[in-house]
Formats: sequence, structure tokens, C-alpha cells
Amino acid sequence: MTDHGPQPVERQLPTEESRDLLALVRDLVQREIEPVAAEEEEAGRFPREVFRLLSASGLLALPYAEEFGGGDQPYEVYLQVLEELAAARLTVGLGVSVHTLACHAVAGFGTKEQQAEHLPGMLGGGLLGAYCLSEPSSGSDAASLRTRATRDGDTWTLDGTKAWITHGGVADFYTVLARTGGEGAHGITAFLVPGDAPGLSAAPPERKMGMKGSPTAQLHFDGVQVPDARRIGEEGQGFTIALSALDSGRLGIAACAIGVAQAALDEALAFTAGRRQFGRPIADFQGLRFMLADMATQIEAGRALYLAAARLRDAGLPFSRQAAMAKLFCTDAAMKVTVDAVQLLGGYGYTADFPAERYMREAKVLQIVEGTNQIQRMVIARHLAGPESR
Ligand SMILES: Cc1cc2nc3c(=O)[nH]c(=O)nc-3n(C[C@H](O)[C@H](O)[C@H](O)COP(=O)(O)OP(=O)(O)OC[C@H]3O[C@@H](n4cnc5c(N)ncnc54)[C@H](O)[C@@H]3O)c2cc1C
Repeated sequence: MTDHGPQPVERQLPTEESRDLLALVRDLVQREIEPVAAEEEEAGRFPREVFRLLSASGLLALPYAEEFGGGDQPYEVYLQVLEELAAARLTVGLGVSVHTLACHAVAGFGTKEQQAEHLPGMLGGGLLGAYCLSEPSSGSDAASLRTRATRDGDTWTLDGTKAWITHGGVADFYTVLARTGGEGAHGITAFLVPGDAPGLSAAPPERKMGMKGSPTAQLHFDGVQVPDARRIGEEGQGFTIALSALDSGRLGIAACAIGVAQAALDEALAFTAGRRQFGRPIADFQGLRFMLADMATQIEAGRALYLAAARLRDAGLPFSRQAAMAKLFCTDAAMKVTVDAVQLLGGYGYTADFPAERYMREAKVLQIVEGTNQIQRMVIARHLAGPESR
């Protein structure tokens, strides 16, 4: 017996419209993203044109309001779109997730005037965003950031260095968290900084293990002037804004992780169905069938977990603990599934001729970004200990 190649993912989607949307995304992925993904990742090429296409197709800002160019889609639909994009190429899936994160401050905390001025370009006007929280000396302890914003009349001057910025140097706008007051979380304020602001420069991109097409760079702010009209939210509200963005962003990372894991499982299924040893397809060996069964179970469990968290968010209910759990579980699952996929391909899995090793390298970063998985455990444990300890 054989013929257990990959099967289409059975998705739970709420409406006919969302089913059509997923079909459109799959079509776009097959035409524009998948065919060049391996080659461009190897070459470290950033696919800026794909983000323009996604923006023009209404796919870059799915969860935001239609009146400003968004897609008005619930998170449970948006995340499944992300999954499809990440399965084809994490640089694109994660890039859309980061762009969505970068829009969160203005969309959720901006004034009506700021929203009317900035959102049309950000959501459907082809612009690409980046989110600037981390610094060389503040990663997990993000509230200790040092980039300083000093006010003189109606103008703020930003000085400092941000680190690890996805789309650093290629973004059109940066959502930047900077210190305007004293030490700690309450001294931080959010700003929307244009990509071409004088005094803003990017270092050469980091040389990464994977996602080589996605530029990750340090950003230097050297006397960057920002009008007060680009301050988002109240002075001192920045860290609350940053964490609120991350709650939603973590769901995006969880969905990307399941996309990468699903791609690895599909690859392993196709390979093991075709590869013969001892006179039969290796997929007939129970030892491997059990591995495949475990991989599929991890993926379905992860998908169910992120969708449950997304549905809480869509219903306007608290979802922070569930988002941390989804990020933790889905990214750990992706790591295990992709390592197992390489194993299932044997020596071929260790070569760049098959995408399994790329999926394995891509999965690793998802355990680190938007709060490492140690930090997710801290978030979950704090929730378990009750409201006073949060
Ligand atoms: C490819 C890539 C893209 C990124 N994109 C962005 C971006 O767009 N914007 C942005 O702002 N940042 C971005 N980041 C930064 C990312 O969010 C940080 O790398 C991450 O938060 C961890 O910070 P750190 O690297 O400084 O590690 P550290 O905080 O120095 O942590 C080092 C290790 O110590 C552990 N650790 C730290 N504190 C504790 C604790 N209290 N208990 C237990 N363990 C602990 C961590 O889990 C980790 O294992 C990106 C990073 C990468 C690699």
C-alpha cells in the first residue's frame, strides 16, 4: 500500500467569502511566490514586488477596517491566509505579519486625523511597515530600551539604535518605541517615523541562518526629527501599545509556524511515498508512519490552538494568555516537525535540493521572535498566578 501523498488542508472557515479568499491566496501563492521561493531565499533576495502585489490585492492589511483600505476580515481568516503565505515562503508570511504589527499602533491608538492621514497608504496604498522595539542591549527586557525622544515645542528628536528590525532599511514607515520619560515601561512613547526621515539610516542586514530574503537590520536614529502629530497615543503609553500589538502579532507567528510545519509535512509525505527501500515505499514502514502521524497531530493541535485564540480576539474577549500559548506550542511544534521532515528524507533532507532543510532553518527563528518561548512561558505563568502578578 502507498499513495499517501499530501492532502489539501481541511480548513474551518466561517463564510463563503473567506473560502473564496483562501482560494485566491492559494492561486497567488502558486503563481507568484512558490516557484521562486527556494532560489530567492538562497540568493537572499527580498521580494518587495510581492508585498506591492499583496497590497494591491487587498491582502496586506486583512484584519483592518475597510474604510481605510483594510480587508475587515476576522483574525481566524487572516491567520489562515498567513499560514498559506508562510508555507510557501516565510519571508513573505512573516513579512505580512510584521507589517500588520507595524500598523497596529495607528489603527488601534491613533487619533481619527492620524488614521485618516496615514492608514490608506499603510493598509492598501503599497507602503510597507516595520516595528521597532528591540535594541542591542534590550531584547526580552524590552522595557529597558534606551532610544530617546526629546521634545522641543511641537517637534521630537529621536536618538539611539534599534536592533533586529525586520524590513529595516526597506520599510516605508517605522513604528518606533522610544523613551520620553523615566526608567521602565511607563517612560515609553510610540512614534510613526517615515522611512526617508533625515538622520535615519540602516546598517547592512544581519547574515542569518534562514529567512535570508527578509532583511533584518539595525536602525540608527541620529537626531531624527518627528512632529508631535506623529506621536501615537499618549506620552508614556508606548509600552502598552507595544504589548497590545505583540498579543496579536504572536498569533501571526503561530500561524506562520503552522504554515512552515505543514509545508514540511507535505514534503515528507510526498518523499516517503516515492522513495523505495527494502523493495517498498518507505512510507509503508510503521516507524515512519508513526512519525508522520505525530507530525500531523502536532500541526492540527497547533492550528486548533491558534484558531481558538483568534476566535476569542474576534469576539472581543481577552486572548493574551491563549496567544502566548499558541505562539509557544505552534513554534515548538514547527521546530520538531521540520527536524523530523529532514530525518524522513534521509541524506536528501540534508541537501539544499529539497526544501526540508530550509523549513528547519526557518522554524528556528519563530521560537525567538516576538518574545522568545521562555518569555511566552513567563507570560502564561503570570496569567496563571492571577491579575495582581501581571
Ligand atoms: C530574524 C529576526 C527578526 C526580528 N524582528 C524584529 C522586529 O521586527 N522588531 C523588533 O523589535 N525585534 C525583532 N527581533 C528581535 C527579537 O524580538 C529578539 O531577538 C527577542 O525578543 C529576544 O531578544 P534578544 O535577542 O535580545 O535575546 P535575550 O533577551 O538577550 O535573550 C537571550 C536568551 O535568554 C533568555 N532569557 C532572557 N530573559 C529571560 C528570563 N527572564 N527567563 C528565562 N530566559 C530568559 C531568552 O529566552 C533567550 O533564550 C527579531 C529577531 C530576529 C532574530
